[in-house]
Amino acid sequence: MSYSPYLLKGQKALITGASSGIGEAIARYLAASGAAVVINYHSEAEEAQKIVDDIRNAKGEAIAIQADVSKENEVQAMFSQMLKEFGTIDILVNNAGLQKDSPFVEMSLNQWNTVIGVNLTGQFLCAREAGRKFLRRGVQPHISSAAGKIICISSVHEVIPWAGHVNYAASKGGINMLMRSIAQELAPHKIRVNSIAPGAIKTPINKSAWDTPQAEANLLTLIPSKRVGDVDDIAKAAVWLASDDSDYVNGTTLFVDGGMTLYPGFTANG
Ligand code: NAD
Repeated sequence: MSYSPYLLKGQKALITGASSGIGEAIARYLAASGAAVVINYHSEAEEAQKIVDDIRNAKGEAIAIQADVSKENEVQAMFSQMLKEFGTIDILVNNAGLQKDSPFVEMSLNQWNTVIGVNLTGQFLCAREAGRKFLRRGVQPHISSAAGKIICISSVHEVIPWAGHVNYAASKGGINMLMRSIAQELAPHKIRVNSIAPGAIKTPINKSAWDTPQAEANLLTLIPSKRVGDVDDIAKAAVWLASDDSDYVNGTTLFVDGGMTLYPGFTANG
C-alpha cells in the first residue's frame, strides 16, 4: 500500500464494522493516509486489536471500540468514547452490514428486522451522531475544506433487484435515499455525504460466491471487467471521497463494480 501520509493528516475517522473485509481495508488505507482511526467492531475483538496494533506499528494512530450499530445507546457510547479519546470526528465510514438470506415468502420478521436494523438503521444512527458533531464544530480550514464527510457503503443492490435477498436489497435501496437526503440537508453546512456501491468483492460476506473455481466462473459472467473485486478497490475510492480531492462531490453514489451495473446480460442479446 503506498499512500501519502499527509492526505488526511490531522483528521479523525470512524469506520464501522472494521474488523474484517472492506471496513478493515478502508481503516488501513485511511490510517496510511494520515487519519487517526476508530476500528468499530461487533464481536471480533481480537481481529480489531490486531488491526490497531498493525496501524500503531506503522506509526499510525488507532483505537478499537465495540458497538452494535443497530443499538442507539451503543452508538452514542461509541461516539462519546471517540470524542473523549480523539477530541473530534472528521470522517464517518458507514460500512457495517450483514445478510440474512431467505426466499421471500419464507423470510421471518426477525431476518427482515435484523438486516434493516444493521444495514439501514445503523447507518442512520451513526450518521446522525456524526452530523451533530460536524454541525457543532464547523469547518476547520487547516484540517479540511469540509465540516465533515460521511461515506455510506451501499451495494450494486441499491439498484439491482436480488431475489432471495429482499431484506438486503431493500436496506441498500434505502441507503441511497438516506444518503442523498442527508447530503441535501447538510450541504449548506459544508458537510459532504456520498456512497460507494461495491460490486462483488472478495470478503467473508460472500465467500460462497467466489471460493470455488465454478462459483467464481459463474460470478464472472456478471462482471464485464472479468475479475472479482478486491477490498483495495473500495478502500482507494474511500480515501478519495474522504479527502479534499473530492471537495465538489456531494450526494452521489460511486459504483466500484467492474461494470456489474452495465447489465452484461444484454451484451449480445439487445
Ligand atoms: P464482512 O462480513 O467482512 O464485513 C461486515 C462487517 O460488519 C463485519 O466486520 C461485521 O462484524 C460487521 N457487523 C455486522 N453486524 C454489525 C453490527 N450490528 N454492528 C457493528 N458491526 C457489525 O463483509 P464486507 O463484504 O466487508 O461488508 C462490508 C460492507 O460492504 C457491508 O455493508 C456490505 O453490505 C457491503 N458490500 C459488500 C460487498 C461484497 O461483495 N463483499 C458488495 C456490496 C456491498
